[in-house]
Amino acid sequence: MNSLHDKIAIVTGASRGIGKAIAVRLAAAGAKVILTATSQDGADKTATEVNKSGGDAVAKVLNLSNPTEIAEFISSVHKEFGRIDILVNNAGITRDNLLIRMSPEQWQEVIDVNLSGVYYAIRAAAKPMMRQRKGKIINITSIVGQIGNAGQVNYSAAKAGIIGMSKSVAKELAARNVQVNCVAPGFIETDMTKDLPEDVKTDLVAAIPAGRMGAAEDVANAVAFLASDETDYITGQVINVDGGMVM
Ligand code: NAP
Repeated sequence: MNSLHDKIAIVTGASRGIGKAIAVRLAAAGAKVILTATSQDGADKTATEVNKSGGDAVAKVLNLSNPTEIAEFISSVHKEFGRIDILVNNAGITRDNLLIRMSPEQWQEVIDVNLSGVYYAIRAAAKPMMRQRKGKIINITSIVGQIGNAGQVNYSAAKAGIIGMSKSVAKELAARNVQVNCVAPGFIETDMTKDLPEDVKTDLVAAIPAGRMGAAEDVANAVAFLASDETDYITGQVINVDGGMVM
């Protein structure tokens, strides 16, 4: 397991699913994890689990649709812990609908949380990382941002936006030894996918060369790799964790 001993890592949206698996994985590798959810209860559940298994996690509330809250949160983490080594922008939502039925509210809500929220978090964390001359920013995008998906015009636009933004930020921060990469999950078993009708799931799995849905831990392993010092010469990349769905 890569050593993240003493690293200060932020993971957003870690109450469940992929974010929770990332928090558990980074903590198992030795990082102190500041994990967030929209409620204290949700964040506490993951932090308690991490701490019970010998890890070190701190639970915080963060709503990514509020730019002021995001900037204040990142700055408070920096003040409290002295540095920010790893920022994992994982939190995300869906508000699916076909284009012609998609309301401006559904569009805006997803863009606010999934794209603008990531921008505000990166913007706030970039300064301390640049001063440290060290940092890892890992953004969770989706294969849908690469290939599109009917019913997800808002979500795929946000996820494609994350990829473009990450590459631009990677170029801006590379000389300061801050790496910015994306992980693009395919079809992963979490709350986000659990309500899909069984026939849709069967069709989706049939399109996955690996022949199964992914686990949140599959995504967490890729994030742990990108968070490690072994990847200081990798930036602006997208690693797909999708069982071969997109290649
Ligand atoms: P999930 O199970 O629905 O969990 C979403 C997380 O985001 C929760 O911790 C939730 O916190 C948090 N969150 C929701 N709204 C938020 C807001 N406004 N501000 C801050 N945090 C908020 O989702 P998941 O499947 O683990 O997905 C995690 C990431 O992977 C997302 O970016 C998603 O787009 C991406 N992804 C997932 C899949 C998949 O197949 N599951 C595929 C590709 C990409 P609360 O519990 O407090 O609501």
